[in-house]
Amino acid sequence: MCGTGESFEADLLIGADGVDSVVRAHLYPHEGPAIGNGITMWRGLSRGLAYRDGRTMLVIGCNSTEKAVVYPITAPDPAGLCTINWVVESHTPGGEVPEVISPAVVTKLLAGWNHAEIDLRRMIEDCEEITTFPMIDRNPLPSWTRGRTVLIGDAAHPMYPTGSNGASQAVIDARVLAYYLAILPVDEALWAFDALRRPETSGLLAAHRRLEPDQLLYRVETLAPEGFEDIASVLSRAELDDIAATGRRVTGLSVQEINTMRSWSVSVG
Ligand SMILES: Cc1cc2nc3c(=O)[nH]c(=O)nc-3n(C[C@H](O)[C@H](O)[C@H](O)COP(=O)(O)OP(=O)(O)OC[C@H]3O[C@@H](n4cnc5c(N)ncnc54)[C@H](O)[C@@H]3O)c2cc1C
Repeated sequence: MCGTGESFEADLLIGADGVDSVVRAHLYPHEGPAIGNGITMWRGLSRGLAYRDGRTMLVIGCNSTEKAVVYPITAPDPAGLCTINWVVESHTPGGEVPEVISPAVVTKLLAGWNHAEIDLRRMIEDCEEITTFPMIDRNPLPSWTRGRTVLIGDAAHPMYPTGSNGASQAVIDARVLAYYLAILPVDEALWAFDALRRPETSGLLAAHRRLEPDQLLYRVETLAPEGFEDIASVLSRAELDDIAATGRRVTGLSVQEINTMRSWSVSVG
């Protein structure tokens, strides 16, 4: 058992132990640490006034080096306040990140930012605890399976969180692996899982390295460097739809695909 020095026998070992997976390191002892792309993310929870319909995610890009993602995680209270999750990301050349993360470290990045609907600077100043994450991933592996050991989730395919779907992919892994284990002998199930999920997630990983989910921000910054009042004056409806469809193509999660997908449930009895 991890950390206790005890050991025991099992039919199957599923390595679901995250980006610094010990199980992965056993399978690939020469891989080394996760790979950073020079972007650091600061993240926190703050109380703030609900905006729009109270359940909207805002992705705000001032330029192609700084970005913020903001979304509420509670319903508004009678005073209209809710708990809001925010992430601010910025290029940190040389990977130099201050050891002590004070709100001032993050608000400094937002100099010149002005958003009509949320007071992000105030939210960050009021935040009690700010956590720091380097943007890291790992190269795709030639196999997730060796003998009766298999990797899933971030242990198998850590990717940049720009597409907000690492956790969803981990859940899909669990569903698919459970499905195959229910219908096939264990060894065949592991290979069926590997054959399906490894190419899918490798494609996602590559798309996230190209920062495809941020294409809209980059395009708008190029076309309207001084800002804009109405997005319709910058991009046509067709262009906006095409960019939105790119995101869905990357994750393979268009509404039509989801609605026609077969279930990974196994009927019992
Ligand atoms: C800033 C940021 C924002 C993100 N935003 C999103 C988002 O909006 N949407 C989304 O879908 N994903 C997001 N992700 C990605 C998401 O967090 C991960 O993809 C997801 O948590 C992976 O789940 P996992 O279970 O594979 O690994 P983890 O969540 O890392 O879980 C691994 C578990 O294994 C345990 N563990 C590790 N080593 C050992 C050991 N030796 N012994 C015992 N236990 C061990 C750990 O304690 C942990 O509980 C984000 C990630 C970051 C960094």
